[in-house]
Amino acid sequence: MSAVLTVENLSRSFGAIKAVDNVSFALQQGELLAMIGPNGAGKSTCFNMLMGQLKPTSGKVTLNGKVITGLAPRVIWRKGVGRTFQITATYASMTVVENVQMALISHHRRIYSLLPYAHRLYRDRGLELLATVGMADQADRHCAVLAYGDLKRLELAVALAHDPKVLLMDEPTAGMAPRERIALMQLTADIVRERGVSCLFTEHDMDVVFAHSHRIMVLNRGQLIANGSVQDIRNNPQVQEVYLGGGTLFNPAKERADA
Ligand code: ADP
Ligand code: MG
Repeated sequence: MSAVLTVENLSRSFGAIKAVDNVSFALQQGELLAMIGPNGAGKSTCFNMLMGQLKPTSGKVTLNGKVITGLAPRVIWRKGVGRTFQITATYASMTVVENVQMALISHHRRIYSLLPYAHRLYRDRGLELLATVGMADQADRHCAVLAYGDLKRLELAVALAHDPKVLLMDEPTAGMAPRERIALMQLTADIVRERGVSCLFTEHDMDVVFAHSHRIMVLNRGQLIANGSVQDIRNNPQVQEVYLGGGTLFNPAKERADA
């Protein structure tokens, strides 16, 4: 495996708070890597630096060996770092397939409003992407009427329209029912495998994390305290200690029931 995204000694402070404190890791080609940690651990701050929304206090991020630290979000996105699940990623007044077509048009650097035939452009490719996320049958519905889980799948299709090499997903399943969470992460895992995309995500449902991650990193108070396989993380005493306070990582009753 080779590293696609490399993070070296990344830090960001807000006044006296070290939100991200000297974090280093690498995301490998084709890897589905989870970043977990309690609320306020620094996960979103870390993601925002990777996506260019927030400037690091110090440290370096490289994409395929090229430094991207401090570049504008749009530039980072153009280089192949896709993000999903922004509320603004879909337009309610347009149909499902039109949203994907618009993303394809933008990806190919064409301007939607200047194209009288835009409604035809990339429609087939749009339908293909919708099929990838299991939404081909909803192509001509208006986004405003979509169920929440379907909107999330559409947002994934919109992200894929930009043909990302890396997908960054900060709490992609927030607000979803447990069964929908599992389904969305299963879909993401399939896409990662089939397209060779690399994906870094955060998620607070540990069933989802343990079921789908190739590797897990644990952030606590801005610092990376563990980085390893699902088994390593389950058995790591420091991780247990961090989570036992909140009681969210391991559920002994459930573990016994599963055994
Ligand atoms: P997580 O996503 O793991 O819940 P965050 O990255 O959102 O954690 O927050 C990490 C810490 O940084 C928290 O203490 C939070 O209050 C602080 N923080 C995050 N963003 C800001 C900001 N824009 N200004 C000040 N403090 C912030
Ligand atoms: Mg967060």
